[in-house]
Amino acid sequence: MSTVSAKPRRLRGVVFDMDGTLTVPVIDFASMYRAVLGDDEYKRIKAENPSGIDILHHIENWSPDKQREAYQIIADFEKQGLDRLQIMPGAAELCGFLDAKKIRRGLITRNVKEAVDLFHQRFGMMFSPALSREFRPYKPNPAPLLHICSTWDIEPNEVMMVGDSLKDDVACGKQAGAVTCLLDEKGRYGSQEFANLDLKPDFKVSSLNEVHSLLKSNFDLTP
Ligand SMILES: [Mg+2]
Repeated sequence: MSTVSAKPRRLRGVVFDMDGTLTVPVIDFASMYRAVLGDDEYKRIKAENPSGIDILHHIENWSPDKQREAYQIIADFEKQGLDRLQIMPGAAELCGFLDAKKIRRGLITRNVKEAVDLFHQRFGMMFSPALSREFRPYKPNPAPLLHICSTWDIEPNEVMMVGDSLKDDVACGKQAGAVTCLLDEKGRYGSQEFANLDLKPDFKVSSLNEVHSLLKSNFDLTP
């Protein structure tokens, strides 16, 4: 009689989302949409788009003057977000742990390159590759994650994608064939509206501090 013990799988790279994952979410999108659209229009559009408002799409057909005003409001909110940029608790410790284990770190964001540059400056550690909105197609398309895996010369199933968005980060990771970890700080994905979705992360944490013990107990981390 032979017993075959399941060997834990190797983990050789972790790819992070930026906003809301490595940084604390600071842009109040609801207030921004309200400021751009006005109260009544905001309520109407929100009711029609329960999964989220695409503000740039809504202002596309406005008159040039109204549009200029709208872009200014958006730019002001984004600038406030950059000014108040904060690193997510546990991010630096987790990255130190990955470095000690020689596990690679990458980043994929739908934000612009300028925001990634500022993040790198404030964080003091680099993620490489770090792909921003300028890399097309962006998340949830798996292309940026597959690009990182091939740059590293590592199979996607030895890479974990960590992010706070089910529809962008987990979808991207799943489609690429990577391991997925959803950061759900506020427990919002525990609610009924997500219970029946087919899209399920392999792991769910409520803080980045939980990630190292998860990695230690589920993966072979030998370099
Ligand atoms: Mg995010």
